[in-house]
Amino acid sequence: MTDLDMSPGDELLELAEKQAALGEVRGGPAADPVNIPMIRHWLDAMGDANRSYLDKGVSPPAMAQVWTMPGVRRGVKDRSPVDDVLAALDAAGYTGVVATNCEQTYHRPARVGERLSAATRFSGLIGPKRTALGEGYFATWNVTWYGEGDAPVAEMMFRVLKFRPRRKSGTPAASTAPYPLRPAQNRDTAFFWEGVRQGELRIQSCADCGRLRHPPGPVCPSCRSTSRSYVVARGEGTVFSYVVHHHPPVPGRETPFVVAVVELPEGVRIVGNVVDCPPDAVGIGMELRATYRAMDDEVILPMWAPRES
Ligand code: ZN
Repeated sequence: MTDLDMSPGDELLELAEKQAALGEVRGGPAADPVNIPMIRHWLDAMGDANRSYLDKGVSPPAMAQVWTMPGVRRGVKDRSPVDDVLAALDAAGYTGVVATNCEQTYHRPARVGERLSAATRFSGLIGPKRTALGEGYFATWNVTWYGEGDAPVAEMMFRVLKFRPRRKSGTPAASTAPYPLRPAQNRDTAFFWEGVRQGELRIQSCADCGRLRHPPGPVCPSCRSTSRSYVVARGEGTVFSYVVHHHPPVPGRETPFVVAVVELPEGVRIVGNVVDCPPDAVGIGMELRATYRAMDDEVILPMWAPRES
């Protein structure tokens, strides 16, 4: 028997059909009922100053998923029909993942004291498709949150692309492949990327009140002016916060890599990779200088290196 006798694709689609046939699978009750401390933390984290949720004792609608999110030590009873499909895709080599769609529908506010549960329905697997990230499958599922009674609180459609990361190799075809994660460039950000091409780190400024802001945007958050200019930053900064990314694989990048929030002496913060040093050498307060890296023939990304190097 050879590999040609079995099609892994057929097996994946067969499993997906089986999971879809399970219909809506109800998960266990949330670890905690809807509660004021969690709502307060969430509002703070989101920068939402609307205190009416606290006054009325209802959950902000966008918090629906928060209440039933399993912890890192999720139990067997927390498994949903989606997990088996995602595990099978991993096993077949489609280890990359990127979320492509999320639509939420809010039916009614969840009240403090209510213990929500999530019901998950696997709705379909489409593929294999050729995408910019590599060959992959689109997996879609729907989650409905219930509280007390049969009326749902909220619903969500979620779709991910599970893709086979392109193998790194020394072949010329791979080395000249375009960098897959191209930065979004538009009228708000064109000046920034033009600066990067010239080896300059440009920070947007308000042409009326002079306040600096980053990331770039159309309106000054201070005086609401739409007149814009920019200054050229010194190209120095310090690590304000950072994470080391180990998993999942990111197309065009080798893991692990460091993503940092860099504080500039000009008074804004900017997100970027820290390069030219091992991830475990990075720490909060580390002094950095900007460096510009060509990712392919067109894309140059600003990154950060230790200032001494
Ligand atoms: Zn302004």
